[in-house]
Parts: sequence; C-alpha cells; structure tokens
Amino acid sequence: MNQVAAISSDQSGTAGKVNLLDFDRQGLRDFFAQLGEKPYRAEQVMKWIYHHLESDFANMTDVGKALRAKLEASCHVGPPKTLVDKAAADGTHKWLLGMDGRNAVEAVYIPEPTRGTLCVSSQIGCALNCQFCSTGAQGFNRNLATAEIIGQMWVAAKQLGNVTHQNRRITNVVMMGMGEPLANFDNVVRAMSLMRDDLGFGLASKRVTLSTAGMVPMIDKLSEVIDVSLAVSLHAANDELRTELVPLNKRYPLAELTAACQRWIARKPRTSITFEYTLMKGVNDQPEHAKQLIRFMRKLPTCKVNLIPFNPFPGTRFERSDAETIRAFQTQLLNAGILTMLRRTRGDDIDAACGQLAGQVNDRTRRSAGIRQRVDQEVSNAL
Ligand code: SAH
Repeated sequence: MNQVAAISSDQSGTAGKVNLLDFDRQGLRDFFAQLGEKPYRAEQVMKWIYHHLESDFANMTDVGKALRAKLEASCHVGPPKTLVDKAAADGTHKWLLGMDGRNAVEAVYIPEPTRGTLCVSSQIGCALNCQFCSTGAQGFNRNLATAEIIGQMWVAAKQLGNVTHQNRRITNVVMMGMGEPLANFDNVVRAMSLMRDDLGFGLASKRVTLSTAGMVPMIDKLSEVIDVSLAVSLHAANDELRTELVPLNKRYPLAELTAACQRWIARKPRTSITFEYTLMKGVNDQPEHAKQLIRFMRKLPTCKVNLIPFNPFPGTRFERSDAETIRAFQTQLLNAGILTMLRRTRGDDIDAACGQLAGQVNDRTRRSAGIRQRVDQEVSNAL
C-alpha cells in the first residue's frame, strides 16, 4: 500500500516534520530504509510509540544517539490535541480532539466489567446524511489521516494509563465514531493494522470492529486486506424505509448488501456480522418491521442483531421508542431464534452515546445550516 505521511502543519515546532503515527509497520520500515537505517530499528521505535506510549525520541533509550538525533530533526510522534476531556457518571469518557486548528472529532471510552471499548472516529463529519445521526447533520469536512485515527487511541491509552499486554484498559476498538470508515479506506485500514499489530496495540481480530452504513464494494475489499470484525448499520429491512433513513441504500440496496454480507461470511466462515438497528418511535419499531428484519436475518443465519435505542440530539425529528416497544421488538426476534442484544445507553449525560458525537466540523457541504436553523428555532421557542 502506498503510504504518504502527513507533513505536520501545526505551529509547535513540528512544522514540516513527518508524523510517525502515519505509518503502519511496513510503512515505517520503508521510511527507515529511506533514512538509511535498518528496518529492525523501525520496529524498536514502534514499540516505544505503542507499547510505552512514548513520543519523545530522547527517552527511547535503546535507540542509538545518532538515530535519535536524525529522528528528532525530521520526524515527530504527533497525536491530536486534547481540547476537552470529560468523564460521565457511569465511567464513560469522552475526548474532543483537535485535528488542524479548525476541526475536532470525538472519541469515547466505555468501561464494562470485563472489557473497555474505545469508539474511534474516521472522518471529520460525515457525507452520508443518515437522517437520525447527529454527525450526519453536521455535514462533512474531510477524511482523517492515519495519524489522526490511531492518534485517538494513542491519546486515550495514554490518558487511561493503558499498559499493552498487561492489565490493559482498552480491550476493544469500534470504528463507530464520526464518519463512514469505508469511505476513508486506506487510512482506516492502516490505523486498524496498527491496532492489530503486536508491535502496535496488539488486539485480536474479534476485538477490532468496523461499522459501515453499507458501502458494498468496500466490504469486499476490506475482507481481502485485513482481518477485523464487521458491523453493518441496518435500521430497516425494507428498501423504501432504509433509503429514507440511510440514503446510501439507494446506491446499494438491501439485496446487494445481503449478497456482500454473504460473501464476507463465506470468506470468514467462523465469523459473524452484527447488524445495528436503531429503534425510533413509530418509524421502524413496529411488529411488521421486526418481521421484515427476521426475514432479512434468515439469509444470514450466523449473524446477530444489536438493537440501539435512539439517542436524541438537538434539532432531530425522531424520538426513542418506548421501553415496552423495545422489549417487544427484541422478544419477537429472540422468539424467531435470532441472537439479539440490546445496547445499553452509556454516557448520555455527556452526549457520548451512539449518534450523539458531534465535534467541530467546518462543514463544506452546507448541510449543517438546516439543523442550526432548527436548533435556533427550538431555543427561541423555549424562551
Ligand atoms: N458510518 C458508520 C459508523 C458510525 S457507527 C455506520 O453507519 O455504521 C454509529 C452507529 O450509531 C451506527 O450504527 C449508527 O447508525 C448509529 N446511530 C447513529 N445515530 C444514532 C442515534 N441518534 N441514536 C442511536 N444510534 C445512532
């Protein structure tokens, strides 16, 4: 894979330097070769970066002095800047991370008794315009660089006191933050390969999950280049409703999505795909919708469903389904023999729940104008 490292443009003495967080293992080896260094040196440095979370070359004590000086002169380890660091009552943690002085994205850490999950963003905003997602309503600015994606994990690991291979706090990563990860394919794959790599964060394939709104050709491509888990945002199992909720469905309708998922399973027989289904009151939560979902799942018998109660955000026209409706929906699926989990809503007191991530998006699509108008209207109605 051709790697182009981002040359830093910030003002903190790193201008013009190569950001080493932009390289996966092979890329770093190639880069060291260009510097006239042995490739194993790259691996030594990688361990410092990801196992010891060290960004200062001066502290990389088993790296020769001359090489340290060379690295200091032309490179840096440049994670995103932490602008805000918030903890919720339930232990959920959210960071607002500055990317380039004009934009910021959010990353969320969700601790549970047996695991700790980090939710990572892949783009500044999102171009897909899913109707029920606050990121979608913010419009789109640009793809994140590899360094900006893996940098979210680096910052979180450092701040949480993550110790690789020991009592690590981050045991799972989900690419379920802002953006459509498959629309930023190369950078996301490179970042995930650093999450998987033993010299990186060393997570097993089951513990790194990419979630997509259904970019069919990229699902195939993903299965060819890296071993990770797949989640698909479904939200409706009939084309008319799904196209309304997830406009990408017009381009890749359910029949094509189903076939792509079947190909994924055929290539990885021991894996499953999780279908995310956000429940919105009166929109997709009725018994007939559950029936359609059951019919859909019959074509993918080893897969499972993750129900997400809708998380409201300012300006949205949707509401969360009632607890009773949610329970009935889940029961209908379970009775049909479909493994169905209900995602607990975490961190909603700090707006860190699914679909609430907003960050600061310098919208280039003008989509956010509409939602801002609606928010202003709501505020003025409330006064
Ligand atoms: N673009 C990718 C990654 C985002 S993942 C994707 O669509 O899969 C975020 C998950 O949260 C998706 O399943 C998304 O559909 C869901 N989601 C978005 N907005 C939500 C909201 N307001 N309430 C609950 N879930 C939401």
